[in-house]
Amino acid sequence: MKDGGHGPAGDAGAGHHDHGAGAGHHHHHHDYNGGYPTNVAGESTPLLTTVMVRRPIRRYPHQTLRRFCSIAINASLLALFLTFFITVVTNPYERRHEWPGRHGRGHDYVAAHTNSITYDELERLLLDTPSGEKASEWSKYYTSGPHLAGKNLSQAEWTRDRWNEWGVASTIVAYDTYINYPLSHRLALLNKSGTKNGDGTQSWRVAFEATLKEDVLEEDPTSGLKDSIPTFHGYSASGNVTGSFVYVNYGTYWDFEDLIRANISLTGKIAVARYGGIFRGLKVKRAQELGMVGCVIYSDPGDDGEMTEVNGYKAYPDGPARNPSSVQRGSVQFLSVAPGDPTTPGYPSKPGVPRQPVDGAIPSIPSLPLSYAEAIPILKALNGHGPSAKDLGQYWERGIGLGHKGVKYNVGPSPDDVVINLVNEQEYITTPMWDVIGIINGTIPDEVVVVGNHRDAWIAGGAGDPNSGSAVINEAIRSFGEALSQGWKPLRTIVFASWDGEEYGLVGSTEWVEEYLPWLKDANVAYINVDVGAVTPVFGASAAPLLHKLIYDVTARVPSPNQTVAGQTVRDLWDGRISTMGSGSDFTAFQDHAGIPCISFGFEGQAPNSPVYHYHSNYDSYHWMTEYGDRGFVYHKAMAQILGLTIAKMSETPLLTLNATDYATALKQYVEKVEKKVDTKHTTTLSTDVEIFEFRSRLTRPESTGDPDMIKVELAKLQKSITKFRHAAISLDAQSAKLAEEANEHIPWWKIISKIRLARAIRATNNKYKNIERAFLYKEGLDGRPWFKHVVFAPGIWTGYAGAVFPGLDESIDNKDFVNTMKWADIINDCIKAATETIS
Ligand SMILES: [Zn+2]
Repeated sequence: MKDGGHGPAGDAGAGHHDHGAGAGHHHHHHDYNGGYPTNVAGESTPLLTTVMVRRPIRRYPHQTLRRFCSIAINASLLALFLTFFITVVTNPYERRHEWPGRHGRGHDYVAAHTNSITYDELERLLLDTPSGEKASEWSKYYTSGPHLAGKNLSQAEWTRDRWNEWGVASTIVAYDTYINYPLSHRLALLNKSGTKNGDGTQSWRVAFEATLKEDVLEEDPTSGLKDSIPTFHGYSASGNVTGSFVYVNYGTYWDFEDLIRANISLTGKIAVARYGGIFRGLKVKRAQELGMVGCVIYSDPGDDGEMTEVNGYKAYPDGPARNPSSVQRGSVQFLSVAPGDPTTPGYPSKPGVPRQPVDGAIPSIPSLPLSYAEAIPILKALNGHGPSAKDLGQYWERGIGLGHKGVKYNVGPSPDDVVINLVNEQEYITTPMWDVIGIINGTIPDEVVVVGNHRDAWIAGGAGDPNSGSAVINEAIRSFGEALSQGWKPLRTIVFASWDGEEYGLVGSTEWVEEYLPWLKDANVAYINVDVGAVTPVFGASAAPLLHKLIYDVTARVPSPNQTVAGQTVRDLWDGRISTMGSGSDFTAFQDHAGIPCISFGFEGQAPNSPVYHYHSNYDSYHWMTEYGDRGFVYHKAMAQILGLTIAKMSETPLLTLNATDYATALKQYVEKVEKKVDTKHTTTLSTDVEIFEFRSRLTRPESTGDPDMIKVELAKLQKSITKFRHAAISLDAQSAKLAEEANEHIPWWKIISKIRLARAIRATNNKYKNIERAFLYKEGLDGRPWFKHVVFAPGIWTGYAGAVFPGLDESIDNKDFVNTMKWADIINDCIKAATETIS
């Protein structure tokens, strides 16, 4: 019975190879007879079925746009002349010059393009149309059955049909992606019994057999669905391992280092980690690197803040505390190395494309998620074995939530006669995923706003993640549809996306960005993301600095659903903190790979008294939402209003609503952060969770390479370049404000030369804004993860979610590799100079 681990785990890795390198091809053999093959994956398809690959949809509107763009890029004289001619005759900015702020029809001389509604009227529509009842209806629809990635075609079609009904032309774009579906699993605690086998060896006894299931609750119909999705990890490795086990805390880089320093042997053992702090896949990654053979990750109620049973709160469904049987599913892909389909890094997963091996992208050791109720017997088996949390210091004593259940939080390892058997059987296949893409064509072809939310969920429900966002984006689209029906036509093109496969590793959005990369780099002015749209009353946002001002402006126009004083807006009740872009949702490919400024926002901040959000659990259900998350769907409505206004501002103002000065300010602060890190006299105090986990995730070496004193010189150089960038940014923003004013003024038709001059100046200014973020891309990418091209923003390599600033620089300093630090200081300096040139 005791395999000792290496065999089965190794097999699992080999299995991946086969599929990644070759075996996947057999899915492509069938004929495409036009339209869908009969055997298309649906959510009703049993999990065990191998799914046929569907013919890609060819008539995708963007191909036309792309063609247009390539024509524009390789412009012939004729095209240039035509562009000039069109600018003169149908200047798109001209017909908008009364916006925003003025009423009435304006003075358009291009009768065919006359907008029948003003910006103010549009804003009114976007505030008045979204409704809580409708949001609730969409939420109920999406949460009525499983919609795992690649198994939600009916929901993709439903979404496309609704968007079409609302007047937004929508189609489905398919990718053939490599993912896993669960076949079977087991987690058991085994003891060596006193009785001997016939051959004299002792036999094993099952001390505890985990159900690996969440309780069915009478109050919550979603929890009792027959076709509910088993508890498992996306991209986890198949394997059957048995071994003694070690409690590894949060499984951060330094948690493992602490264990090594305490002489805890890890090789051949199974890791028992708690969720939280860092991306789950990175816990498995480090365990694997240290020779561990399996990984179990459980949800400790000690991380639930005030709302715990220990503090006297009842557990869901009777109260706001965590249901003890709740399990957090989730992906264990190595997200900070590269998101998307792991077999097609950097290019789209179209049928027939070459597939790369997956090692280095997903784990080779099996893992399972676990509830705290079922973690208790396993953790208790460690009592008295190895050092306790106290012995290992403050980071191990944090959030201890099962002391009252008799868990002493010893790290182990468990004695040889107390072992875990972990079985994880996954089917890996290459199967279609479906992005729904809706387009409202604007007048300017090469300035495009993209807005997205993912549709796939780990569970039948997903009322919070992602379908509160799906309800929100639907309400925003319905509102724009209302405007379209009244004759509105946007200035810029707006693209809406309902992504598939986000949960496995941002798959649907990453493949789409990879497919349309040249067009997006040319035309996409911003990407706006909503994932979890509303699960608490606390608004939260992360964004590129270029877009900060826009978020402040918009949230100040939307009434708060929670007014203690009449007239309070969302802005009034929000602390105004905007996080840097890390990863963990669909903006990643846009921001970090394509250099497009992004926003991701929603009512998802946690207050100490927030009911526990059962993330990736069966209890993220419609019932939980109506009782604890967002009663009356009022925050759904507010979020739809925020999203609508954000899109409108982005698409309708003649001058792009990007602020360059804010970028300069942020860059200066980021360098100061690095300066503090280099300054040995400076002692950092870690106050927030993010800071603590960032600190615990730093990869350092004892010996240094190069001269640390040179770094200060380099950082001073960076600050100098930033000062120059800042001057250019301030004058660009001033110029933009001036042009915005001019665009607002009426220019009589006979002053055609002034009109042309203004239109050209606006276009040139917008182009400058569009190119700022692109200037921060470095072609070779970050060290060891070339897919990540942005030199300012990336997920922390050992945190996964949290955004690291100047990742190349930061990691080299942690590494004490000062030669590499110099390299990165140069690269960043070049980018800042390029950005300055772009806008000067
Ligand atoms: Zn999500």
